[in-house]
Amino acid sequence: MAGFSFAPVAASRALDQTLPAAPARVLRADRLFTGASPQTVPQGAVAIADGFVVWSGPAAALPAEYAGWLTDDYGDATLLPGLVETHAHLAAYEKAVQPDVPAPETHKVAWETLSSVKIARQLASLGVTAVQSLGAADYTDVALREAIRAGLVPGPRLVAAGPAVTLTAGHGWRGGAAADSIPELLRQVRFHHQAGADLVKVMATGGFMSHSTAPWNAQFTLAELLAIADDAHRLGHHAAVHAHGTEGIRRAVRAGFDFIAHCSFVDADGRTAFDPQLADEIAQRGVFVDSSAVPAFPVVPGQPAAALAKQLYDHGVLLVIGHDIGAVTSAAAYRHGLSRLAEAGLPTAEILLAATSRGAAAVGLSGVVGVLEPGYQADLIVVGGNPLANLAALDDIREVVIGGRRFDRETVPPWTPPVGNAGSPEVARQAWLDRQSR
Ligand SMILES: [Zn+2]
Repeated sequence: MAGFSFAPVAASRALDQTLPAAPARVLRADRLFTGASPQTVPQGAVAIADGFVVWSGPAAALPAEYAGWLTDDYGDATLLPGLVETHAHLAAYEKAVQPDVPAPETHKVAWETLSSVKIARQLASLGVTAVQSLGAADYTDVALREAIRAGLVPGPRLVAAGPAVTLTAGHGWRGGAAADSIPELLRQVRFHHQAGADLVKVMATGGFMSHSTAPWNAQFTLAELLAIADDAHRLGHHAAVHAHGTEGIRRAVRAGFDFIAHCSFVDADGRTAFDPQLADEIAQRGVFVDSSAVPAFPVVPGQPAAALAKQLYDHGVLLVIGHDIGAVTSAAAYRHGLSRLAEAGLPTAEILLAATSRGAAAVGLSGVVGVLEPGYQADLIVVGGNPLANLAALDDIREVVIGGRRFDRETVPPWTPPVGNAGSPEVARQAWLDRQSR
């Protein structure tokens, strides 16, 4: 992070301040994974009160003052911090469904805000208690964050970017905030601050899903990226980029960005070419990278979908869990993605740390959630069995607690692969070449 330490998001604001206080209670299970280390505590217990963890450790050492509290013993189960999705676009997935009225565009903002409630609730139902929105038109993610916080709708803790900053006709320009010079970029950063965004998200390269860009081309100069990152940090926000192309990744890292989405090392010829020196630089600077490196759609048989994530991990990069949920895939992609990381060779303890404490740090919630220790907010899940032995335990969610309160889970449709192969580098490259030769 180039020496910069950003202020924790919403550190002083509790969720659901309008609701009665969450009851004090003790949760016990055969295993406790606190998120502070790769080990589990056998026969663990967590005491929570007023929305915070007040004690955690081996149940046998539970202090007498908590012994009389309401206690739930889950037996052969594991207590762990709530999971963190670092890369979602909550309003995007239901775009196919529109209000059945003569002019649906009249209701665009309200419709997108309401639509995003659904995927936010689905994520929380899967144990994802904190979600970073990496781009939403009209700041609908900021409004939803506030609605959840105020208790208007139940949902996960949101960290909201508002509209992603891009160029005129740049990647994601339809729902994004266009800026074509340093003064315009600074103005956008300050608009985001004014509107209550938690971070600034910048489209540092083109993307696979916009006709006017190529994923391997950098969209901003180093000077432009430096201006954005510095001003975001000055205002207490972290700064994230979308970056497929290697040159865009390099500029973002050198400009001091805190978070890279995709990081897929797409070279100037449109093909993926991992750059070990750049990976080392990302690791040295402590930049977080999400696990959504573009896989081939459909996945190449015999080739792990998360091979690039494994290479980054091997270079010591701070990998976190992010799937572009909403933009390209459904809420259930979260669990699917964790299994793909395990298949690629990441240890389960590493995956769970990436999904909890490190994910929380990556979205500005360091010291707030992601660890089950005193002083952290009580965002936790209980799963049957032992997820360190087998991630499938995460499919057996017994309870989700957000801010000390039980979240009322709903049934989430199972994961299905994204339709078509719009995300394939080869397809994007061919489409680009076709347009050039028209
Ligand atoms: Zn995205």
